[in-house]
Amino acid sequence: MNPVAVVGMGAMGSRVAGRLLGAGYPVTVWNRSPARTAALADLGAVVASNPAEAAAQAEVLITVLAGPEALRAVTEGRRGVAAGAHRSLTVVEMSTAGPAAATRLAAALPAGTGLLDAPVLGSLTEAEAGSLTIFAGGPAAELDRARPLLSVLGTVIHAGPLGSGAAAKLVANMALFCTLAALGEAIAFGRALGLSPQVLADVLAVTPLAGQAARRRQAIETGTYPRRFALSLARKDAELISEAAAAAGAKLRLAGSARAWLADAEAAGWGSHDYTAMLAAIIGPKHPFQHRSAGGSARRLRRYDGLIIDLDGVIWLGSQPVRGAAEAVARLRASETRIVFLTNDPQATPQVQAARLAAMGIPATASDVVTSGHAAARYLAARRDLASRAALVCGPPALREEIRRAGFRPVPRSRAHEAGLVIVGGHERFSYAELRAAVTAVAAGAQLFATGRDPVVPSSDGPLPATGAVLAAIETAAGVTATVLGKPEPHIFGVARQKLAGCQRVAMVGDNMVSDIAGARRAGLDAILILTGTTAEKDLNRSAVQPDRVFHSLAALETEISRSRHRAARNRALRGVRLSGSP
Ligand SMILES: [Mg+2]
Repeated sequence: MNPVAVVGMGAMGSRVAGRLLGAGYPVTVWNRSPARTAALADLGAVVASNPAEAAAQAEVLITVLAGPEALRAVTEGRRGVAAGAHRSLTVVEMSTAGPAAATRLAAALPAGTGLLDAPVLGSLTEAEAGSLTIFAGGPAAELDRARPLLSVLGTVIHAGPLGSGAAAKLVANMALFCTLAALGEAIAFGRALGLSPQVLADVLAVTPLAGQAARRRQAIETGTYPRRFALSLARKDAELISEAAAAAGAKLRLAGSARAWLADAEAAGWGSHDYTAMLAAIIGPKHPFQHRSAGGSARRLRRYDGLIIDLDGVIWLGSQPVRGAAEAVARLRASETRIVFLTNDPQATPQVQAARLAAMGIPATASDVVTSGHAAARYLAARRDLASRAALVCGPPALREEIRRAGFRPVPRSRAHEAGLVIVGGHERFSYAELRAAVTAVAAGAQLFATGRDPVVPSSDGPLPATGAVLAAIETAAGVTATVLGKPEPHIFGVARQKLAGCQRVAMVGDNMVSDIAGARRAGLDAILILTGTTAEKDLNRSAVQPDRVFHSLAALETEISRSRHRAARNRALRGVRLSGSP
């Protein structure tokens, strides 16, 4: 049997090597950290000291690596696979690295070396059992030579010329990610509309999502997602899908949404869990089939010990304070309700918003305020794949400041092509030059983020264009969909909720049906609508998502909370009188 080398001893690579050893192939292995090769050496594998040496000894060399960067590092350079490649070697590239990586590898290998891109569908158990699906790209004659060996690992599908295997794998993963995102959103939607857990399960059972709904139900209900395929790798694959789609001119909308959910889940700490933990980001960490109780709303109202309060439309309208809001905040605080202010306005830092609050009679410090710019900067700083990238900020100076503080290097518009990410926040100085810079950066490969998607904010002079309007221009011209980091996405609610750590019952109080009410629902918070801003009472009938309670103003909410607390206290006192007066 032909000597084989396997490069990359991750969960999949080590199983591929183990299976080939079991089938009687002489196998050489290499891994960046040598400890991973020990178990295979015990089974009879030879351990190479570098990838070039592994290539020199083999007739077939299989790469199973984490992505395009790892593939480049292992195949190129003085001790890379290409340096040891020879005319009788066939390289079989099994990583999920995208078609561009296969093209690059072909260019790196010396003339005469064979190459197949052959990523696999299936995970650990399939790799052990030899039941993977292998999508192979490359010349038919080359594939025929490798087929007996590949058949030990699974079923081979010839996808077409070089790069087609990588393309087929991205298509399969895209279908997988989008299906999971659709399942998560269907559950979140049903839950928000108040469907009972059983009805929700029955409904999904008669849709095309039935199989996935049944298969994922236990994970969803227990909130545990045991790893078969790491979410951080799935997030990487989702980026590859976007890049490949952009390069091929394919317009994908669902894939962008699935990618955003995976990124949210990774930012929320699910990176090392199974990729299906994407569901946790969409429907909350646990028990999503649980259903809100319809009754007891007065009881619920008086039990809030924490409120997250929106600024525009609840506390102020443009430069005008909303009447009674300052007094209501003071009374809520006096009754030991903790308050955090949450705004999608990226035009001022938390410090500046706190000063505005103080000026209208609401004492506040920066730590009482969460802005979309601040939350976005925190999210981006936690994304290791973006670390130290240059950032093009299409937004106000306050946003640029937050991004700089998060460790990114802002680049001027003239150097937009250097940016690894673009972050958009609505501001009054948005211009054609800024739009053009954003489009240049995205075309050069930068990822697009935004602080929100609200088209307008309310003011005392009528609606004012907001981040969503600016973002629509950029998305239209760049042809991609941004990852939104402000409301209604769960990340920003998580930042606000952390500031109320220790509170037992927290509600979001806001004026916008999408960013505040639907967003609160998705973040697992109660949602209270205030009618002093964007939403009028008549708009409620048209909305699929409904708030828990509606009040004409923040002052009216405070009055109702205070009344219900008084009633409860009086009832407790009366019960005490009856008890002590009874025989
Ligand atoms: Mg608002």
